[in-house]
Amino acid sequence: MEYVVIFALGSAVGSFLNVVIHRVPRGESIVRPGSHCPKCGRPIRPFENIPLLSYVCLRGRCSGCGEPISWRYPAVEAGMGVLAAVLLWRFGWGVELLIYGVLAALLLALSVIDIITYRLPNRITVSGAVLALLLTLLFRRDHLLMMAAGGLVGLGLLGFMGLVGRLLFHKETLGMGDVKLAGMIGLFLGPLRTVGMFIVGIFIGALIGGALVLAGGRGWGQRIPFGPYLAAGAMISILWGEKLWRWYLSLVIP
Ligand SMILES: [Zn+2]
Repeated sequence: MEYVVIFALGSAVGSFLNVVIHRVPRGESIVRPGSHCPKCGRPIRPFENIPLLSYVCLRGRCSGCGEPISWRYPAVEAGMGVLAAVLLWRFGWGVELLIYGVLAALLLALSVIDIITYRLPNRITVSGAVLALLLTLLFRRDHLLMMAAGGLVGLGLLGFMGLVGRLLFHKETLGMGDVKLAGMIGLFLGPLRTVGMFIVGIFIGALIGGALVLAGGRGWGQRIPFGPYLAAGAMISILWGEKLWRWYLSLVIP
């Protein structure tokens, strides 16, 4: 039952993330005007705003103009619902669920925006950093130093990687947005989990990037949206970071 509640809560947050994903890259306000169909401008009525259910009821079409609604909307809602449920399963109700839930929402919005526009807007990464600071001040003041260290580790690792990329390929392979994103994630995770985020993110990026090159779609050193890989690395590091460290140490120190 509590998983139904958290899934519903998560998909409601996902519904708000859809507004963020649509409007922030266009430089629009996320508060006003209220939600409307991007095709015909018809305002969304309250009962049409229920996550997932309304998409099913409307059969994926605007009730005004009949234009299909992008599958991205229900996908983001369901995705945030699942993330919230997994975090509840891992941490139970409490401060960690809140803090990592906020991070998961930021990462989901940034990943989708990065895939669509190849950009990670400052408006979200910087707001995310401020949120991390606020949440730490409110709920776990003893973590402040760890938080700052995590932010620096994130900035440092990605900054270093950008430098290596420039030396290898003689051009920018990594945007400043990726560096800022890693700094923001670091504030939420603290230094150890940020290193975990970096290693797992690079691993996933290499796997998927390599697969794309083999499939013939891209060449080495081409700019890739790195945000989703960092986001995936961060979530895996949150959920299974300690296990991964122990497994790694058992390999190094027999
Ligand atoms: Zn419409």
